[in-house]
Amino acid sequence: MVTYEERQMMRVGFVGWRGMVGSVLIQRMLEENDFEHLDPVFFSTSSAGGSGPSIGRATGALGNAHDPKAFEGLDAIVTCQGGDWTKPMYSTLRGTGWDGYWIDAASTLRMAGDAVIVLDPVNRSVIDKALDSGIKNYIGGVPLAGSLIPWIAEDMGDGVSKEEWKGGAETNKILGREADPIPVESICVRIGAMRCHSQALTIKLRRKMMLPEIERLISNAHEWVRVIPNTSEASTRELTPAAVTGKLEIPIGRLRTLSMGEDYLGAFTVGDQLLWGAAEPLRRMLRILQARH
Ligand code: NAP
Repeated sequence: MVTYEERQMMRVGFVGWRGMVGSVLIQRMLEENDFEHLDPVFFSTSSAGGSGPSIGRATGALGNAHDPKAFEGLDAIVTCQGGDWTKPMYSTLRGTGWDGYWIDAASTLRMAGDAVIVLDPVNRSVIDKALDSGIKNYIGGVPLAGSLIPWIAEDMGDGVSKEEWKGGAETNKILGREADPIPVESICVRIGAMRCHSQALTIKLRRKMMLPEIERLISNAHEWVRVIPNTSEASTRELTPAAVTGKLEIPIGRLRTLSMGEDYLGAFTVGDQLLWGAAEPLRRMLRILQARH
C-alpha cells in the first residue's frame, strides 16, 4: 500500500554526487536526514550500472547520466557534475519535454533569465516568487578554489575579470535587484585556502551609521552570521579559513568606519565555499521544493 508519506515523496536524480561538491552535498544530506523525505536516483557519467553512495538503504544501480531517457519521470535533478555535463544535457532534456526542477552547482545557467541563484538565507523571497511564477531552474553561486593568482577566470577585456564581473552580477541577481543594482567592485585573487572564500569589503553606506547599530543589523540578518569583535586576538582566532572550514557559520569581522568618510565601512568575512558556496543551497532548495510538493 502506498502511504501518504510515499505519495508526497519527490523522485530526485543526483548527478555528480561523488565529486568534491557532490560528496559534501551527500554528507550534508545524510547529516540532515534529507533522504528520508525523497526518493533518490543516482547517476554516473563514467560507471553506469555500478553502485551509488551509501545512504542507509538500497538505491539501485547507477543510471547512465548521458542517456536522456534515464531521467524520465523525475521531479527534479540535482547536479554537481559541472558545466561540461550541464551544457549539453540541460538543453537535451528540456528538448525532450522534461519539465522537472533543475538544481545545479555549475555556473552554466546562473545568469540565464529563467534561472534563480539560490542562497535562501538571503534570498528566500526571490526563490518563493520564482517558484510561484513557475521557474524551474535553481543554481548555486560563486565557485573558487585555492592558488596564488591575482586574476580569476576570463578576461572581460575592460580590465575586469569574469570573477569580478560575477561578484556584481550574481550578487544583484541573488538579491533580485537586477533592475536597481547595488554597485559591487572587487579585485579577485586566488589564494591557497582549500575550501573557503574570504572577502575584504569596503562598503559605502547610504547614510552614516554607528558601529553598534551596524553590528546589530548584521547579527540579526540570518541564523548563520556571527559578528567577530574587531580585535587582533578574536580576528586571528575566529576569522580565518582554517577556523571556518567545514562549518556553516559565516563570521564577519574587522568592522570599522574608514578614514575616507563616515559613511564608509570596512569588513572582512570568510565562508566555506563547499558548503554555502556550493552544496548547501542545493539541498536547501530541495527542501523548499519538498515543502511545496
Ligand atoms: P569534481 O570533484 O571534479 O567532480 C565532478 C565529477 O568528476 C564527479 O561527479 C565524477 O563524475 C567525476 N570524477 C572522475 N574521477 C573522479 C574521482 N576520482 N573522484 C570523484 N569524482 C570523479 O568537481 P567539483 O569540484 O565537485 O565541481 C562540480 C561543479 O560544482 C562544477 O561545475 C564546479 O564549477 C561547481 N562548483 C565547485 C566548487 C568547488 O569549490 N569545487 C564550488 C562551487 C561550485 P562521475 O561519477 O559521473 O564519474
